[in-house]
Amino acid sequence: MDSSWENLLQDEHQLEVLAQQAVDRALAEGVLLRTAQEPSSSTVVSYAPFTLFPSLVPQSLLEQAYAVQMDFNVLVDAVSQNAAFLEQTLSSTIKRDDFTARLFDIYKQVLKEGIAQTVFLGLNRSDYMFQRSSDGSPALKQIEINTISASFGGLASRTPAVHRHVLSVLRRTEEAAKILSNNPSKGLALGIAKAWELYGSANALVLLIAQEKERNIFDQRAIENELLARNIHVIRRRFEDVSEKGSLDQDRRLFVDGQEVAVVYFRDGYMPSQYSPQNWEARLLLERSCAVKCPDIATQLAGTKKVQQELSRVGVLEALLPGQPEAVARLRATFAGLYSLDMGEEGDQAIAEALAAPSRFVLKPQREGGGNNLYGDEMVQALVRLKDIEERASYILMEKIEPEPFGNCLLRPGSPARVVQCISELGIFGVYVRHGKTLVMNKHVGHLLRTKAIEHADGGVAAGVAVLDNPYPV
Ligand code: ADP
Ligand code: MG
Repeated sequence: MDSSWENLLQDEHQLEVLAQQAVDRALAEGVLLRTAQEPSSSTVVSYAPFTLFPSLVPQSLLEQAYAVQMDFNVLVDAVSQNAAFLEQTLSSTIKRDDFTARLFDIYKQVLKEGIAQTVFLGLNRSDYMFQRSSDGSPALKQIEINTISASFGGLASRTPAVHRHVLSVLRRTEEAAKILSNNPSKGLALGIAKAWELYGSANALVLLIAQEKERNIFDQRAIENELLARNIHVIRRRFEDVSEKGSLDQDRRLFVDGQEVAVVYFRDGYMPSQYSPQNWEARLLLERSCAVKCPDIATQLAGTKKVQQELSRVGVLEALLPGQPEAVARLRATFAGLYSLDMGEEGDQAIAEALAAPSRFVLKPQREGGGNNLYGDEMVQALVRLKDIEERASYILMEKIEPEPFGNCLLRPGSPARVVQCISELGIFGVYVRHGKTLVMNKHVGHLLRTKAIEHADGGVAAGVAVLDNPYPV
């Protein structure tokens, strides 16, 4: 199998023509974003950036990522129910990181009052890169798990048609048929539908928390559409709307605009900039309610980078998942090196190693959404500044994954099509529903491949760095 599709093209002109065909197909399929300039416009939308070709991914790694997803679901759910673990793990971080501290504060308030919620819904996405090795067989290594607002499940169901189109134009019909079908938004909606059903109130709604100006609305709408097809109605509201029009009754049932809410689905609320004092109040109100939050505050905390780092410590997985050695082994196989920067000898040593070989590490604060991590010189400067102060505990250090670069063409509105060296990140969507103590759903529901040029160390699709892609299994 030829590893570079671009060799099938004769010249630059053919590349341009093919790119135009791909863009038209993407527009027709609804691979869309609203624009930054006109985020509310119905006349101006653009295609979401994507690769001209599907990128090669070893079949065995795809299978491994799918197989470990149910374990990650169980793990996140276990962490979210383990108050002692969360408290201990985050104790140093919350002293120095205000955002995590605010979240933790809400968590403590809810614990103190007693958790009214009885149905729990996790919609997450575990992300991986393929670490190259000397023997030529790459290894699956987790970058992070997203437990709140994991996105692009909607648009990812529409990109396979685009890549099949491209390969068909190139008369590679057999190869076109190998591009996997994918429908994460349907699976995510089935999770929401199950939680809604278990909540058990026929007239209650799903409340989708989002900002007013949302560029990625078509991705969110894909889930709304799936729910409506099952006669489950969704209302979109901002945190501000909840704070103005939301209330709890004496049983802590949640009402917004007089309508009962069964499930709250957050597509907002994962970054500090998304919270005004009013929004924090709204978040607390939602958390205190018996509505199914996706995620509840504990599950959001379970997705922090500090928790990820502690999970990699010897014996921790075993303690969280007793009697499940196979699951523990599958999970651990995907862990890269992760290092605590808490004050003390262990943290001192990690810093010394990172300063001695900066290209082998990434410095990560407790943030989501891309563009927050530090690499290379920036990382060194930060470590020198943080070395002796407690603020360092709000970060973790991670081994830098080095995938083997390959050629692909990144298509973005307004940029010429050309082949550049790229690396990919594979995400697997996971869904679980727990009713009281019983796990009633635990599945993987699809994948997302994102690809970026090698010169960008950090950043996802929303950050304007990575683009949508499809794995071509080899
Ligand atoms: P965020 O929550 O901001 O998405 P991530 O941990 O996913 O944080 O990091 C953002 C991006 O940085 C990733 O999509 C990936 O491109 C890059 N990155 C993160 N960790 C590593 C790592 N250990 N090795 C190589 N690249 C990484
Ligand atoms: Mg990420």
